[in-house]
Amino acid sequence: MSTHLSPNLDSVTTIRDDGSRRILYPADVRGRFTLARRISAAVLIAVYILLPWVKVGGYPAVFLDIATRRFHLFGFTLAAQDVWLMFFLITGLGFLLFFLTALLGRVWCGWACPQTVFLEHIFRGIERMIDGDAVRRRALASSPWTAPRVLRATAKHALYILAAAGVAHLFLAYFVSIPHVWAMMRAAPAEHWSTFVFMAVATGILYFNFSWFREQLCIVICPYGRLQSALVDENTLVIGYDAGRGEPRMTVTDAHKKPGAAPGDCVACNRCVQVCPTGIDIRNGLQLECVGCAACIDACDEVMVRLHRPKGLVRYDSPNGLAGKATRWIRPRLGVYAFLLAVGMGVASWGLSTLHPAVLGVTRMIGAPYIVDARFVRNQFLVRLVNKTTEPARYTLSLRGGPDGLVRSGLTGQVEVPALGEVVEPLILQQPRGSYSGPFTFRTVVQDSAGTFQLERQAEFLGPDPQLLREDESERAGGGHG
Ligand code: SF4
Ligand code: SF4
Repeated sequence: MSTHLSPNLDSVTTIRDDGSRRILYPADVRGRFTLARRISAAVLIAVYILLPWVKVGGYPAVFLDIATRRFHLFGFTLAAQDVWLMFFLITGLGFLLFFLTALLGRVWCGWACPQTVFLEHIFRGIERMIDGDAVRRRALASSPWTAPRVLRATAKHALYILAAAGVAHLFLAYFVSIPHVWAMMRAAPAEHWSTFVFMAVATGILYFNFSWFREQLCIVICPYGRLQSALVDENTLVIGYDAGRGEPRMTVTDAHKKPGAAPGDCVACNRCVQVCPTGIDIRNGLQLECVGCAACIDACDEVMVRLHRPKGLVRYDSPNGLAGKATRWIRPRLGVYAFLLAVGMGVASWGLSTLHPAVLGVTRMIGAPYIVDARFVRNQFLVRLVNKTTEPARYTLSLRGGPDGLVRSGLTGQVEVPALGEVVEPLILQQPRGSYSGPFTFRTVVQDSAGTFQLERQAEFLGPDPQLLREDESERAGGGHG
């Protein structure tokens, strides 16, 4: 991909030549994308907070109950046996991300990634509130450690820790539920050491990440940042600089003197660089460090408006569009990603639509497939009934499809299964030799007591060739007469 890359882009903007960290102080910016991101972040944070509280079908909307190995997702309950569905769900979501990245670039990073959402809209908000704008923050960082500075730093870091603890506690609620988290918060740490240590470590990691590590996570650690360079092409929507329109750059003075008559629209004000949370210069082309936050679009638009020039010198466009060529939105790779996305989501949706609050399994017992004795041909099965709900449940078990005379023993009639428990019982089927006419299939049917659902499993009753059985009968009868 042509990216207007300059040779000095081999280094990371936030790491100096001697390996030390260059701390960034991104300037504040206003504009349509900043406002839209703020609204979308508020919605996403609200969703994150509300999901463990809002109940769907008697459970929190998202509750990954590790203790009982039950996953509750928007009214669907997945037991350990249904985990295969997660594979298709996660694969489908993975291809959705591929599809969106190939179409819209790093829209996930800039608009929805928890790292960006929490950092930009909670932790930087705290920083701005206490330390002020970028100029004041930079000045403060190089000022002596006076009492007011110590006080400010203490207040800021106390709020960081509080916010990190809040995020970590909510995260835990997705696995143990809000009432359980609340109960643990009121109990002494000694009563739940492992959870307490988990919370302390999680809070510590979040605090470290959002107070200090920040953009390094996107630049140095996040694998998606690296992966996306393989997913985008010349027709992907990215945030880019229109070099054809912007170059050669003017000085700010030129821009005021010769409105509209200057060779290029970029006034080299560096405003786009000052607002960038990863410290890069978008005019150098598409870079790995760009998290697609659109701050540079708003920053440059503001400058363009002031200079009475059209907005969009830095804008959402494809590399082809930025180079003045046509953008091909529909491409073969999008078709492939869409197909794989449809397969993953299709299987997951079908699986979810067929989920029931119980699981029924019928398997043949280990050993001989059938036993023939003096009176019967016998088959032995194991019936496994899992109750996925948190209430005890009563089920009625019946057999359908077997021949007349089939004698059933073991698991029969009404079965009570404890909450989140399972019952495994033998089911013995005997067919009298006289009426046995060969292998047959039958269905084990389970009905819940409220009549809301029914589960069925088909199995085969096996036995010898009926002709051989008759001959054996005749021989025995002949032997008896002799
Ligand atoms: S280059 Fe622009 S879009 Fe990319 S991270 Fe920097 S400010 Fe955000
Ligand atoms: S904000 Fe716009 S005009 Fe200013 S340096 Fe960046 S691209 Fe050029």
